[in-house]
Amino acid sequence: MSSKPLNRILHVDGDSFFASCEIALNKDLTGRPVWVGGGRRGDGIVIAANKHAKKFGVKTGMACFEAARICPRGVLCKPHYDEYRRLSQEMFRVLEEYSPTLVPTPIDEGFLDFTTMDHTVWRNTAAADYVKEISDRIWREVKIPVSAGLASSSRLAKLATDVAKPGFLEIKPGEEKDFLKNRSVRELSGIAKNRQRSLAALGAMTFGHVANLPSTLLKQKFGIWGQQLWLFANGRWNEPLMLEVKDRTTISSSTTLPYDEPDYEAALTFALSEATRMTGQLRREQLQLRELSLTIRFNDFSEVSGSHRFQHAQFQNSIINTTLEGIFRDIMTAQLRPVRQIRIAMWNLARLDTQPTLWGRTDAERWGALDDATHKLQEQLGKTPLMTGAQLALQKLDGVHKNPKAKCPFVPQREMVKKLWGTDADPLANKSDWDKRLAKVSKQGQFRH
Ligand SMILES: [Mg+2]
Repeated sequence: MSSKPLNRILHVDGDSFFASCEIALNKDLTGRPVWVGGGRRGDGIVIAANKHAKKFGVKTGMACFEAARICPRGVLCKPHYDEYRRLSQEMFRVLEEYSPTLVPTPIDEGFLDFTTMDHTVWRNTAAADYVKEISDRIWREVKIPVSAGLASSSRLAKLATDVAKPGFLEIKPGEEKDFLKNRSVRELSGIAKNRQRSLAALGAMTFGHVANLPSTLLKQKFGIWGQQLWLFANGRWNEPLMLEVKDRTTISSSTTLPYDEPDYEAALTFALSEATRMTGQLRREQLQLRELSLTIRFNDFSEVSGSHRFQHAQFQNSIINTTLEGIFRDIMTAQLRPVRQIRIAMWNLARLDTQPTLWGRTDAERWGALDDATHKLQEQLGKTPLMTGAQLALQKLDGVHKNPKAKCPFVPQREMVKKLWGTDADPLANKSDWDKRLAKVSKQGQFRH
């Protein structure tokens, strides 16, 4: 039997990331209860709260006015997503020095492959010391506190982090089953509600229960997933870390306007400009859409919505915007109330091949070249030197609506990877690259205690 090395995977996760970023950006907030809230005038919900605020009972998802009521001395911060992205990138820059393989996930979590570290880097160091060095350095250089978990798979490492928070927890080889025994299956990241219910129907509330079920039953009920879950619950799920950059399946945008907009033409212009931005983003990721939906929320929180399914996948602004305008006029005809929020979703995505073809230039290819050029110019000039008609109209319309930004701070993994390494191909696809990176990490590992 060949002896495969046991996988050791470290999960690192920023503590109350958005709130920690606010404190990193403003030292006066240190030690105070802090939460980040959405909405225009502090009338939204809490997006993140630090540990001091949590002590008062402030929770994610709570209304900001409720948070202010139970914690009157706390500080409400407006989100600064661009800064969060910058700090996230700085955090990953530090992390990537500590393992040849780093898988970043949006926006404050990452997985590091520690599988061969005990032979190559650690020798005289315990995992806990190495992780402490990493988190200390992130604290020193980025001012973000992080927690971490080390285990035999990324799923288990994430679970360990959740348990350790704030701090570090290692689940040593052989301890997996014991660690999981009394933990609820709900703690598994990404487990769907219906699967939880089906497991509960089998009497399996904890991983211990799952481990005692016959594996054939789980396979019969849930297929491959059931088999994996059984192995996981028995501490036998040993999964190597791989950088897998998946295409996104949807893109959406939700924007609360700076004030309730009574002018529907202005709201439409805003929606078109946002759709243009989203379509451009999809094209940059070489994707196109088959379905599109628009939801308008009014100032009394009632909503109307409509959607459209294209016969063929689309990538051109002219076609998508014409359809969006049609939906908008359709759902708004009988309305009178001012618009509070605009939500657009594009899904049922298909690949868009913008690579040059042998048979001359296709439309998609020309659009791809145009998008690339536009994007490069915008990155170089840092502003919006190139505008579509809708964006120009928007800028003329009103200074407040100018330059609309996506509210969602989550960059797809594909983009994060590109930003870190300048390519979305696996940076370690070459064996020699891996050796080089490992040598670099080794050097980094020779720290003193
Ligand atoms: Mg976090």
